[in-house]
Amino acid sequence: MGIMWSTWKVVGWIGNLAFFTRFIIQWRASENRKQVVVPLSFWWFSLLGSFCMLSYALFKTKDSVIIFANLFNWIPYIRNLVIHRRHLAAHMECKTCLNVNPPGARFCAECGKGLPLPRN
Ligand SMILES: [Zn+2]
Repeated sequence: MGIMWSTWKVVGWIGNLAFFTRFIIQWRASENRKQVVVPLSFWWFSLLGSFCMLSYALFKTKDSVIIFANLFNWIPYIRNLVIHRRHLAAHMECKTCLNVNPPGARFCAECGKGLPLPRN
């Protein structure tokens, strides 16, 4: 295909592949659920793609357009990963039936037992 391979080219192509993969992951998840879904892996692939593209731009092309395009987008990717982690941690497991209930639930959705108040 006329590509001159180098280490930075591989890094750049890994970034491209990660960005392409995240679209496939998000699209498939949405098709499966019949609603718009953004799976956790979407943010991990976004972070990987952005990191690789930024590295490629900084150390290989030194192209200000690519550098700027990838300089700040890691912030919402990491923030979404943190929010997702905190949301999962806020889920409460029922001591009686082990059902995992959504954050803020006062009663177990499976057995109806009262759940402890969330910790702050
Ligand atoms: Zn329960």
